[in-house]
Amino acid sequence: MSLISWIQNNMRMDLQDDKLTREKLEKYLLLKLKNIVKYVYEKSPFYRELYRKYGVKPDRIRDFKDFSKLPFTLPSHIADNPYRFLCVSQSDILRGFTVEDVNGMRRIFFTENELIHIVEATMFGLRVANLDRGDVVQIAVPKEAEWGIHQILEEAVRKAGGKGVVVDELEFKIQLQSLESLRPQILIGPALHIFYFSEWCEENFPSILRRLRLKSVIISHGCVFYPFTDLMREEIRNIWECEVFDHYGITEMGFTVAMECPAHEGMHLNEVDVYAEVIDPNTGEILEPGVEGELVLTSTNREGMPIVRYRTGDITRLIDRPCQCGDVATRRIENIKYRL
Ligand SMILES: [Zn+2]
Repeated sequence: MSLISWIQNNMRMDLQDDKLTREKLEKYLLLKLKNIVKYVYEKSPFYRELYRKYGVKPDRIRDFKDFSKLPFTLPSHIADNPYRFLCVSQSDILRGFTVEDVNGMRRIFFTENELIHIVEATMFGLRVANLDRGDVVQIAVPKEAEWGIHQILEEAVRKAGGKGVVVDELEFKIQLQSLESLRPQILIGPALHIFYFSEWCEENFPSILRRLRLKSVIISHGCVFYPFTDLMREEIRNIWECEVFDHYGITEMGFTVAMECPAHEGMHLNEVDVYAEVIDPNTGEILEPGVEGELVLTSTNREGMPIVRYRTGDITRLIDRPCQCGDVATRRIENIKYRL
């Protein structure tokens, strides 16, 4: 399993070693959480002030329960002044991304190391979604400045031994023309765009569609939220007659948060880079797996702008039954129901 090997690589575990269990992964996660809290307390003016205000002593965090008592980070905190989150000097930042929604405009900064790491995480995610050496991937994502999402995807496909072609223009006709001439094995793009594009193809060019024979469609959620139901997802699967993989990522966490596996029973969390909690949005209390609540994420692996206990506003639940794919170590979340 690629996700497991990604985690084992990062844990410096021998791939031939015995199986990665939840117990081993939790030990690793707890260590990462303790380290990140200490790190932000020392390096980030925002967290130093917040933790002093709440009397947080980073050395006193002994277990997940202690960690879950830490104050939350809100989107408005970042909107107020993102520079106070930085744990490195401004000159070490290679790329900033802007997020803008009802919670204001936020800048999220990344170092070069972090961007390289994101490419690698993306590559492992793509492999889970059937990307094999030699495959061509049509990337339906608008082009941005250097190190934009389009470039991260292109580079991740290249590293996996395939060829990524960015089709920047999202107009349906252009996307279809490109599919016809490129004959890619995989199509990747924002969930809602892929949904409307698929419907349009089915309605206008059903015969072309049958010839294309895609292996996988990867749909991405998170950076911008819109309602997307399981039925819409099912429709994409029926139209292309291929596997559909969901991906969830938000800029604040470095994009690669969770990815669906071939068992298609929810998305496995990338527990190398994020630690997830689900809370009652009204009381802030931690909820049991299986209970719907707000997703709270901590970036465990960042040096530039780590964010601890970030309230995403995204409503989901942790899945409380084992996945058929055989990965018993990582936890899974359901598709995001709505954003608060
Ligand atoms: Zn699975």
